[in-house]
Amino acid sequence: MALFGSTGSIGTQALDVIRANADRFEASILTAQNNEELLIQQALEFLPHTVVIGDPARYQKVKEALQGKPITVMSGEKALEEAASHDDYDMMLAAIVGYAGLRPTLCAIEKGKTIGLANKETLVVAGDIVMQKAVQKRVPILPVDSEHSAIFQCLVGETRNPIDKVILTASGGPFLGKKPNFLVNVKREHALQHPNWSMGAKITIDSATLMNKGLEMIEAKWLFNLRPDQIQVVVHPQSIIHSLVQFQDGSLKAQMGLPDMKLPIQYAMAFPQRIPNDFPRYDFRKVSTLTFEEPDLRTFRNLALAQEALAKGGNLPCVLNAANEIAVFAFLRNRINFLDMTTVIEKTMAQVPFIQHPSLQQYFDSDGEARSFAADLIHL
Ligand code: NAD
Ligand code: MG
Repeated sequence: MALFGSTGSIGTQALDVIRANADRFEASILTAQNNEELLIQQALEFLPHTVVIGDPARYQKVKEALQGKPITVMSGEKALEEAASHDDYDMMLAAIVGYAGLRPTLCAIEKGKTIGLANKETLVVAGDIVMQKAVQKRVPILPVDSEHSAIFQCLVGETRNPIDKVILTASGGPFLGKKPNFLVNVKREHALQHPNWSMGAKITIDSATLMNKGLEMIEAKWLFNLRPDQIQVVVHPQSIIHSLVQFQDGSLKAQMGLPDMKLPIQYAMAFPQRIPNDFPRYDFRKVSTLTFEEPDLRTFRNLALAQEALAKGGNLPCVLNAANEIAVFAFLRNRINFLDMTTVIEKTMAQVPFIQHPSLQQYFDSDGEARSFAADLIHL
């Protein structure tokens, strides 16, 4: 396994799975951006052949700590692509957060490596190009995002049966039922408290704004080759049903379980096998009521913006994603309020010229343009 983003929420849980199944998996590559302490500790435990620390200022410390071990230490953005292009690993777990995950994942696909995809932004930014290249190189893209893993699991044995639609479940986040007059005052600490899942900061904010579900609709489009009208969202606050597929006879299949990312991580890693584990089990006596409601698109306008990007396609999802990354970054630093995030995204989407069929370079350029426009808007 090559764990890109090994120090994150997904990365550390993947290492738990590897640790519990040492006869089956091995960590060959570990990468992190800033957290060199944890990266060093992971490298000493798992002895990968390659380690990448993104921030060059931290290179020396990692290098010295791993002195005498059979580990190559690299640093910088290009090093991620170099590591992804290494021959000596089988599967990449793409668990970097944000746009930064795109290029290394493209390199791994180019090399014919299987991808376990947690980094949904990769498909939001350039889904057509990523999926095309994966088909061309016969590379399986195995979803790690819990909703997409659920859909993927529902599709096993259904290769000849077209999908009528998919239904993505959303927890609703910490502000379910709240209105704009409440949201305008929420603080970062409040937004970082997710009721059901413990995740990295960026996706936790995306869950609070419902942007996460919008990104996931776009992710679903590319993973399962769907039209926008085949993708629905339902709010399901208990997070027990992880998503559903409806087939042409009207039958619905759902995948259920307690909210625990280790399960979809392990499923992607061991696919098509299911391997035993000691994860806690869902008990109907403890959570006996499952409820469902419509998302509130008037309050959580990020989801409406993502749906617009999904419907229009082209470079608009890429622009939406870039503006969102800037907006979340600014919110996390208390530079803008919760509702300002939507304004930044909306204005950026209106600003960057629309391209219906962008090349990869045009996606890169759209990302850059959107970022600098959004950053100027909030005087970053
Ligand atoms: P995280 O913030 O906890 O970890 C991110 C990892 O990426 C860290 O190892 C960090 O060092 C690395 N990283 C950050 N910026 C980087 C950069 N510019 N260049 C290289 N590396 C960088 O994030 P996470 O919650 O683990 O999420 C990772 C991805 O998985 C995201 O795309 C997220 O949407 C997706 N995902 C996460 C969860 C979850 O439960 N955490 C669930 C579904 C999908
Ligand atoms: Mg998800």
